[in-house]
Amino acid sequence: MSLIISSRLAAIPYYEPGLTTADVLARYGLDAAVKLASNESPYPPLDAVQAVLRDGVAALNRYPDGAARALRAEIAERHGLDPGQIAIGNGSCELVLLAGQALLDPGTTLVYPEPSFGLYAHLAAAAGAVGVGVPLDAAGRNDLAAMAAAIDERTRLVILCSPNNPTGGYLAAASVEAFLDGLPEDLPVLLDEAYYDFVTEADRGRPLSQARLRPNLLLLRTFSKAHALSGLRVGYGMGSRAWVAALDRVRQPFNTSSLAQAAALESLRHPAALDRRIQETIAERARVASALESMGVRFTPSQANFILVAPDADDGIHGRLLAAGVIVRDGDALGCPGTLRVSMGSPSENDAFLTALAKVLGRTAPVEARAARVIPTKDSRQP
Ligand code: PMP
Repeated sequence: MSLIISSRLAAIPYYEPGLTTADVLARYGLDAAVKLASNESPYPPLDAVQAVLRDGVAALNRYPDGAARALRAEIAERHGLDPGQIAIGNGSCELVLLAGQALLDPGTTLVYPEPSFGLYAHLAAAAGAVGVGVPLDAAGRNDLAAMAAAIDERTRLVILCSPNNPTGGYLAAASVEAFLDGLPEDLPVLLDEAYYDFVTEADRGRPLSQARLRPNLLLLRTFSKAHALSGLRVGYGMGSRAWVAALDRVRQPFNTSSLAQAAALESLRHPAALDRRIQETIAERARVASALESMGVRFTPSQANFILVAPDADDGIHGRLLAAGVIVRDGDALGCPGTLRVSMGSPSENDAFLTALAKVLGRTAPVEARAARVIPTKDSRQP
């Protein structure tokens, strides 16, 4: 029996989660697998963060601080902003959804890059608005000229994603600034910087100074990647008070848990430990890229914690990697047919990927085959 649902919601494609590690172990009868499919951190949360989480359990009979005051204040101070310029969400996903609710109406348009993070297309459908997906440029970056051309008087929200998921293409700050200069000053722009921590370009901080100056710009960051807190769900926005007030107006009163707030706050207090992990991921990205080059496998240069690989092989390569216990994301499901999105794991997990890829492609393994640190874990939906 079917249920009558809103005609707007019926237009939203069902989100197809990727396979979990448990699914793959069961399907292929494996003992272990490496999961490089969700752009997560290969490391557990920092020890100090785990301790705070344990301590927080005893107080779970109380509601959290609905305004997440301590976390907002800490983020604000670290970025030279005022707490009223910080939005806190149940993952940055929630802030993306809230932006759609707060800003879009039937008949308006949302302009966003495509392929990019799948949630963007959902916003327009949920609001009965028109989603205008603008193809990326040849380097896998948001095509700012084409996006500017797609904006008209009906446009109520523009989303940029840099580095872009799933390509890893990064927008130079000067090009973002020129793009913003060409827009009406009151047209809301969301710059999703979920992978900001892995950017090595010298101009990566400039959008933040733009967000201080331009009331229409909100930056999005997350604790799900470098901070290794995907499972807790905390993300934040930084920008004008007007942007933050719009998001706060539509969120539920207690949108992030007390544990999530406390863990995020603690994680921010250990920048050196975090930076060591980030540097390892950046070094692994370079190592995997040069191994792919030496195998003659094409890929898009990435500023994120993943690489989009185009193996130029027959269909079925994703399934053959799965059967070998290497879980990567099939580009077919991400709007990039014939590719694989490979998250950077630990060195041994990345070796497991390179070794399996070489085997599947019949190439010489670019790494010494060594036992991967494989952790069979249950996991959540694929972000
Ligand atoms: N933005 C982008 C570009 C992403 O890739 C992701 C996660 N895959 C998110 C936002 C959402 O992250 P979270 O909700 O975990 O903060």
